Parts: sequence; structure tokens; C-alpha cells
Amino acid sequence: MADNYDYDVLVIGAGPGGYVAAIRAAQLGLKTACAESRETLGGTCLNVGCIPSKAMLHASEYFDAAANGAMAKMGVKVTPELDLDAMHGQRKDAVKQLTGGIEYLFKKNKVTWLKGRAAFEDAHKVKVGDETVTAKNIVIATGSSVTPLPGVEIDQRIVVDSTGALELAKVPEHMVVIGGGVIGLELGSVWRRLGAKVTCVEFLDQILPGFDGEVRKESNKIFKKQGIEFKLGTKVTGVEVKGDKATLTLEPAKGGDSETMEADCVLVSIGRRPNTDGLALDKAGLKTNERGQIEIDHDFRTGVDGVWAIGDVVPGPMLAHKAEDEGIAVAENIAGQTGIVNHELIPSVVYTWPEIAGVGLTEEAAKEKGEVKVGKFPMLANSRAKTNHEPDGFVKVIADAKTDRVLGVWCIASVGGTMIAQATQAMEFGATSEDIAYTCHAHPTHSEAIKEAAMAVTGKPIHI
Ligand code: FAD
Ligand code: NAD
Repeated sequence: MADNYDYDVLVIGAGPGGYVAAIRAAQLGLKTACAESRETLGGTCLNVGCIPSKAMLHASEYFDAAANGAMAKMGVKVTPELDLDAMHGQRKDAVKQLTGGIEYLFKKNKVTWLKGRAAFEDAHKVKVGDETVTAKNIVIATGSSVTPLPGVEIDQRIVVDSTGALELAKVPEHMVVIGGGVIGLELGSVWRRLGAKVTCVEFLDQILPGFDGEVRKESNKIFKKQGIEFKLGTKVTGVEVKGDKATLTLEPAKGGDSETMEADCVLVSIGRRPNTDGLALDKAGLKTNERGQIEIDHDFRTGVDGVWAIGDVVPGPMLAHKAEDEGIAVAENIAGQTGIVNHELIPSVVYTWPEIAGVGLTEEAAKEKGEVKVGKFPMLANSRAKTNHEPDGFVKVIADAKTDRVLGVWCIASVGGTMIAQATQAMEFGATSEDIAYTCHAHPTHSEAIKEAAMAVTGKPIHI
């Protein structure tokens, strides 16, 4: 025990940031506790985020493939029948197994789980439920929750957030998704595949803010082809619920006449905000920035000695893998090692069909920094994608025109989320497009499209 504190490290929040930080701290020989107010460990990601959404995406993808003729095209004729209870059952089972797995890892690594809500008493003292504990180091990993839309009440019946949208007891007739970001497109896809008419209302002129411009446009086309309707440049100014129906009021974002739209399910997915309510940050001498986030330095230190912060509660993309890597790094820094996260290379993946993935700079951002060369390769010309009847999408490699160093890689491909790992690793090692082009890729794989896009940077792809 360090300097008469109860713990060397107390982590607040057991999401992918917090539980990973706690396990790594314990692995490094530090006496560690983790406070979590949920009944199960794993945070947003395992309980109501990444994992349950992927369980529904995976299952609904099978249903869609059977229903939309994709399986028949390959000689497998089936008429699917939806057993939504069973689909939800396998989602709950995945969550149960994975959250239970973290509990096992806590026991294995001797991390103490303090059950209850944590609030600071001072910079080294925290009240968790009825218990007060002290720690030499405290890591805030409290994550984020849904950003509410002013004037729109989430009743988890007709008007739902992502948590409610994962659990709908029946397929809606018409689901309106407010926000064409990652959650809206993933969960909108789930219910579209299972038979709902889905309309996505997005404030901006294009879906998926933050993604490469060409990728945003092409994805929009693909989702439209799949049957999702879009109202871009439009904001929702009100939702009125009467009985089992909602009436939305929509207005052009740049002004003009409003219109109304009926729905039997409305998903509010306009972003997430950091969780700091009830933490009594002021007692630790901390405050949040104008976006409600806790500011940190390069090493994840807040402005108060011994208090650190990671994950969705700090600036940066709200992604589980970013939180996890920060969890490892913060624990290593606390232990006196050098924990580093390269925030320039955090991949983003949207787990729709096809998947949409990217790492590094968009073409627009790269061009702002200097001259670039861009190589593109369509999935239609990739032998594996073509054989698998997955013609949609492309890979795009953006390289510095002078040094050839790869600045960004984007792909729309059925397994884009898996493909982007090699691009991230290559970029982590400072690869040029030539390095990727001259790396042998197994055939036939979707990843060959990355090699060909890299070859296209110098105008020499083989298969187009
Ligand atoms: P969280 O996972 O939010 O965990 C924080 C934990 O802290 C929570 O369990 C909370 O109960 C606890 N807590 C908060 N305050 C206190 C307190 N005062 N005392 C005690 N405990 C407290 N990201 C991806 O990378 N890939 C995906 O596919 C993906 N899919 C998503 C799908 C959905 C529907 C949603 C909502 C999110 C998704 N995300 C995804 C985002 C991802 O879930 C978050 O980025 C990630 O969970 C952040 O991790 P975290 O540890 O910072 O916080
Ligand atoms: P988001 O920021 O991805 O998208 C929100 C969208 O809503 C934006 O396009 C925004 O322009 C739009 N919007 C905002 N106000 C609006 C309004 N009044 N009317 C219409 N549109 C409006 O947020 P999200 O989809 O809610 O996701 C939240 C977070 O969760 C994201 O940061 C994301 O990284 C994370 N997440 C990640 C994954 C993944 O990695 N696959 C999956 C789900 C969620």
C-alpha cells in the first residue's frame, strides 16, 4: 500500500477505458480498485454500445441476406422468418458473457470492484456508495451518455435513444433516425434490414461527419440503394407523441418552410456527451471545458496532481479502442513507465454493410497540409469481393506527393473494419504507398484492394 492510501490506483468507471486501466495497473503490481455504478462491468461498450449493436448488426445481416435475394444468388434459396425474441436473446447472451468475462479478469488480476457511484471528496479521496476510499492516483474514466435533443423527450417506447433502439420488441413500420452519424446508420441499418421503412434526418448536407468526403458521398448512395431515405440539410425541431405515433416537425437547416413526418419509432442519435454529473469534480479542484470534457495533457494528467482522465470523458473521438489504448497508457504512466497513444492514427469503423473505415487524414484535410497523390481501387475489381457478390465500395490511399508517405487510408468494403488494421499498422511504421504496394498480400483477399490502391498512387494498379 502506497503512502497510507487504501489503493495505489482507483479508477472511476469500468468501461473499455477504465477496466483496461485497472487491469494494466494491477498487472504492473499496483494495488488497484475500480468503482462502477452499473450492475455489470464493461461500460457503455459492452452493455449498451459496441457489443449489443454488433450482435444485432450481425444477426440482421443474415436475415437481410436471406430476404433480399443475396443468398438465392449463391444458390441458397430460403424464406426467412424473423424470431426477434431469439435475436434479442443472442444479443443479451453476448453481453452477459463478455461483461462476466471482465468480472473474471478483475478477479484474476486482483482488481477490487467497488460497486456504486463515485464522487470526489478531495483529490485523493472518493466516496463510492457508503464507503470512502483513498488512492494515490485516481483515473477518471466515466465515459459518455446520449446528448438529448432539446424539447424531445426520450420515453424509450416511441422516442428512443441507442439503448432503446437495441431493444425494440417489434419491428417499427416507420423509424425516423435523427442524426446521420455512426449510431443512426448502424441502428437504422438493423431495423431497415428487419423490415422497417427508415428515414434518416441529418442536419448537415452530408452523412458521417469527420469521414473522407468521397467516402461520405458514396456511402450515402449505397444506403439509399438499400432503401434508407435521407433528408439531408434538415433539422428536427420538435417531436410530439400521441398514442403509438410520433409527429416530427422538420425544418431546412438553412431556413425555410417546415414540414411534418409521422413515425412509430424515433431514434435520437445526435451525439454523446461526457459524464461528469455527480462526480463533484470541484472537490478535487477540477473543472470541465466548454464541451463538458476534462482536459488532459499528453500523459493523461489533469491539472491536479495524482488525478488522470481517459476515454470518452476527455477530448478526442469517442471510440472504445481509443479508450482502451489510453487505459493501458495511463496505467503505465502511473507506474513510471512511458505510456503513449498515437492520436493521429485512431481508426474509425462503421459496421454497416458494407463496412466503412478510415485512418489518418481525409483527402480534404491532407490537401490543406500540402500536395497529395491519391490512389483508388474499386471493390468491384477485387476478385474476392466480386466472387462474394460484394461489388460496392472502394479503397483510397492518400500519400504525400513529395515523400510518398501514406497520410490516410479509407475503405468501403464488406470487411473494411478488418482491412483498416493493416493500413493503421503500416502508417504507424511510417510506410510509403510503395511499401504497401510491394508488400505481398494473400490472394484472393479483400485486402489486395489496399495493395492495388497503393499501386494506384503511382498510376500502376494491375486489375483496373
Ligand atoms: P464508458 O464505456 O461509457 O464507461 C464508463 C463507465 O463509467 C460506465 O459504465 C458508467 O456506468 C461508469 N460511471 C460513470 N460515472 C460514474 C461514477 N460517478 N461512478 C461510478 N461509475 C461511473 N465505439 C467503438 O469503438 N466501436 C463501436 O462499434 C462502438 N459502437 C457503439 C455503439 C453504441 C450504440 C454506442 C452508444 C457507443 C458505441 N461506441 C463504439 C462508443 C464506445 O462505446 C465508447 O467510446 C466507449 O464505451 C468509451 O469508453 P469509456 O471507458 O470512456 O466509457
Ligand atoms: P455522431 O456525432 O456520429 O453523429 C451525430 C449526427 O447527428 C451528426 O451527423 C450531426 O450532424 C447530426 N445532428 C446533430 N444534431 C442534429 C439535429 N438536431 N437534427 C439532425 N441531425 C443532427 O453521433 P452518434 O451517431 O450519436 O454517435 C455518438 C458517438 O458514439 C460517436 O462519437 C461515435 O464515435 C460513437 N459510436 C461509434 C461507433 C463505431 O465506432 N462503430 C458506433 C456507434 C457509436
